[in-house]
Amino acid sequence: MTAHQPTAPADLSTETEVALERAATSHRHHELFSARASKIKQSAVRDVFDISLRPGLVSLAGGNPFLQSLPLEKIGGMAYKLVTEHGLTALQYGGGQGMEKLREQICEVMAEEGITDADPGNVVVTVGSQSAQDVACKVFCNPGDTVLCEDPTYVGALNTFEAYEVNVEAVAMDDRGLVPDELRRRIAEVRSAGGNIKFLYTIPNFNNPSGITLAAERREEIVRICQQANILIIEDNPYGLLRFDGQPIPPLRAGHPADVIYMGSFSKILAPGLRIGWALVPAHLQRRFYLASEAVTLCPPTLNQMLVSEYLDGHDWRGQITNYRDLYAERCLAMLSALEEYMPPGVTWTRPEGGFFVWVTLPPGIDTYPLLHRAIDAGVVFIPGAAFTPSDEPSNRLRLAFSAVAGDRIREGVRRLAPVIAEAIEA
Ligand code: PMP
Repeated sequence: MTAHQPTAPADLSTETEVALERAATSHRHHELFSARASKIKQSAVRDVFDISLRPGLVSLAGGNPFLQSLPLEKIGGMAYKLVTEHGLTALQYGGGQGMEKLREQICEVMAEEGITDADPGNVVVTVGSQSAQDVACKVFCNPGDTVLCEDPTYVGALNTFEAYEVNVEAVAMDDRGLVPDELRRRIAEVRSAGGNIKFLYTIPNFNNPSGITLAAERREEIVRICQQANILIIEDNPYGLLRFDGQPIPPLRAGHPADVIYMGSFSKILAPGLRIGWALVPAHLQRRFYLASEAVTLCPPTLNQMLVSEYLDGHDWRGQITNYRDLYAERCLAMLSALEEYMPPGVTWTRPEGGFFVWVTLPPGIDTYPLLHRAIDAGVVFIPGAAFTPSDEPSNRLRLAFSAVAGDRIREGVRRLAPVIAEAIEA
């Protein structure tokens, strides 16, 4: 028993004893935590998850896909058939790299994005692309190494990086994505301070949270900068097929099989609960990557892999993606026109060509974190911008998701948010 564990005198009521016992056990074993464990934080998105479920509240917080548009009966029939007719395989362990047939189909999905030379042998199926990010850190990062990312970037990736005790250096973006000169400058700065940079993590299409897309003419330049600096690129592209405006741009991986680890996911084009994602890994790195993935999960879930495979075989998945796109286009428009109508002067926002998110900028000096409480009182939830950068600085930005909420609710949410923002500007 450690010094801070209180002991209950014999005459205390049961209730007090229980409370003391709870207090005592809540401290037990804390000294056993790894240094790493203290770096693992609950993401801001998870923080507001419960609040988002309150009746009457409009949640513009979570980037959930709108699953109501899926053919649920059909998918249910497929799942039933897999268990009843192929249960001995579907419910059994599988290979650590993932099913071969699914890896072949994943290559077809990537071909839709412009990656036409992918070898299924270099695909590793993962438990969502989240676990692919974890595996990448496991394979490449020692504590104290540096990884580069966009500013802002995906909160889940930041949490993973922090859990591996790496230094995360965010590189500035503008409205055409990551700024190549900023990348050069940051690489030079980190190196001159003795830092060891392992990779650049980038979300080139419809960045989470900003919705910004990396311009075509910058993509080659960014690959060249990383090649010259001997830094790997991790290209995270879960939203790429959900483009509803503008022209598709080939992924960074398209012409650079040796320089880029490409990550994809069925979470946004099918369903996140299946937890099936993947990494397309350069051939010379593939074995380490797959062994590390196997060490974490043994194998990706067999039934879910078979279900995704069956869905890709037996359903018009391209048509489903078109449905999703049309739906998100409509919702994005609803959000943009509501912002136009309700937001006070001095507020600006991005105009995404796909994906789930709009990034709103308030005048400098306004911290959006305290605004969240006022917004909740007004009946709307968002994610404050500070969640999406590795620095502890307050942020005058916030993320709004349009994916999960119908157009009229989006409009209502923005209408509720606007006076909260106007009041902060006037204060
Ligand atoms: N990358 C980005 C940019 C994301 O937005 C998300 C999910 N919100 C993920 C990765 C994780 O996705 P998955 O469900 O495939 O783990």
